[in-house]
Amino acid sequence: MTGTINKKRIAIFGSTGSIGTQALEVIEANAELFSVEILTAYNNEELLIKQALKFQPNVVVIGNDKKYSKVKEALAASDIKVFGGEKALEEAASMDIYDLMLAAIVGFAGLRPTLKAIENGKMIALANKETLVVAGDIVMQKAVDNRVPLIPVDSEHSAIFQCLVGETRNRIEKIILTASGGPFLGKKPNFLVNVKRDHALQHPNWNMGAKITIDSATLMNKGLEMIEAKWLFNLEPEQVQVVIHPQSIVHSMVVFEDGSIKSQMGLPDMKLPIQYAMAFPQRIPNKLPRYNFKKPNTLTFEEPDIKTFRNLTLATTALFKGGNLPCILNAANEIAVFAFLRNRLGFLDMTDLVERTMNKMPFIKNPTLEEYFESDGEARTFAASLIHM
Ligand code: NAD
Ligand code: MG
Repeated sequence: MTGTINKKRIAIFGSTGSIGTQALEVIEANAELFSVEILTAYNNEELLIKQALKFQPNVVVIGNDKKYSKVKEALAASDIKVFGGEKALEEAASMDIYDLMLAAIVGFAGLRPTLKAIENGKMIALANKETLVVAGDIVMQKAVDNRVPLIPVDSEHSAIFQCLVGETRNRIEKIILTASGGPFLGKKPNFLVNVKRDHALQHPNWNMGAKITIDSATLMNKGLEMIEAKWLFNLEPEQVQVVIHPQSIVHSMVVFEDGSIKSQMGLPDMKLPIQYAMAFPQRIPNKLPRYNFKKPNTLTFEEPDIKTFRNLTLATTALFKGGNLPCILNAANEIAVFAFLRNRLGFLDMTDLVERTMNKMPFIKNPTLEEYFESDGEARTFAASLIHM
C-alpha cells in the first residue's frame, strides 16, 4: 500500500492565477484526497517553479516559450518533466497521468487544452467560462460524446449545480444569476467615463485575476456567465435572469415549475466552489468562516442598470442570437480589457469596442470549431484596429 492509490490526480491549468493558487491551498489542506500531476502557467515562471518544488507534479508546462530554459534549469535536479510553448499545453492535457483537469486559464487560451482533456475522457472542473462562451455547443457535445462530467467552478454556476442535485427529473423554470454589481454599482456614465484601471481593479467582495475583475466592473462578467449558464444547464435564453445582490451571499438561484426557489448561500470565498468541484460528489469539511445570520446584515436584490452597463445588453443579444456572436463578443472584450489595463482605452470605450466589433463581423449560425477559431482571430484583429495606440 502506497497510500496514494485512491487519491484524485489533479491537473491545474493556470496554476499561478487566482483560482489556481486557491486550488493548491485546497489540495494542501486535503493531501490525503488529492495529488498534483500537472501544473501550467504562462508568464509567472517564478511562482510556477516554487509550486513545482513544493507539490512535485509529474509534468510542468510554461506556455511562454521564452521562459522554458529558466524553468527547466530550476527543476533539473528533480524528476519533474518540463515542457514549453502553447502546443505543450494541449499535449499535457492529452496525457494519461491525471483524473481531473481544473481549467483555470483565463480567456480564449483555455479552450484548446480543455477540449483536449475532454477528448481524453478527463473530468473537468471548469473555471474558464470563456471556453463555453466561445464554443459552448461544441464543448458540451464533446463532453456528452466522451461521457465527461463538467463541474462548474464559477460560484454562480456552482450554486445552480448544487441546487440541481437530486432534481434531474424536474424541469427548471428559470435560473437567477446574482451579481455583486462590482465597484461602480449605482454609478452613471458621467462618472464611469473617467474611471481608471486602478479604481476598476478594486472589487468590493472578491479578490480575483485582473481580467475578471475588470469584467465584473463593466458587468461583462455577468453577461459571459449568462451564456455559460445556458450551455452548462441546457437552457433557453429566456430562462436566464440576472439580479443585483451587492452582498454576494446568495450565490444564485433556481426557480422550479412549482414556483419553489432554491438557492445556495455562503460567504464569498472561491475555495468553496473550487473544493466542491474537485471533490464532487463528496463534500469535504473545512475551517473557512461561516456566514452568521445573527450578525445584522441585510440581503438586498435589485434590477441591473442595463442603460448604464450596456455590456449586459450586448451579452444578452449574443445569448439570444447565438452562432459565432458570443465568440466575437468575447474576443473583442478580451482586446478591450487588455487595452484598458494598459490605459489605452477608456472604461466606457470598452463597451463601444465590443459593440462595433459585433456589428462588423460576419454572422455564422452554426460554426465549426475552425470557424470559431477564425471568428475569434478576425474579431481580435478588427477590435485592435479600432484602438489608437
Ligand atoms: P488569473 O489571471 O489570476 O490567472 C490566469 C492563469 O492563466 C495564470 O496561471 C496564467 O499563467 C494562465 N494564463 C494566462 N494567459 C495564458 C495563456 N495565453 N496561455 C496559457 N495560460 C495562460 O485568472 P483567474 O482570476 O484565476 O481566472 C481564471 C479563470 O477562472 C477565468 O476564466 C475566470 O473568468 C474564471 N473565474 C475566476 C474567478 C476568480 O475568483 N478569480 C471566479 C470565477 C471564475
Ligand atoms: Mg462568477
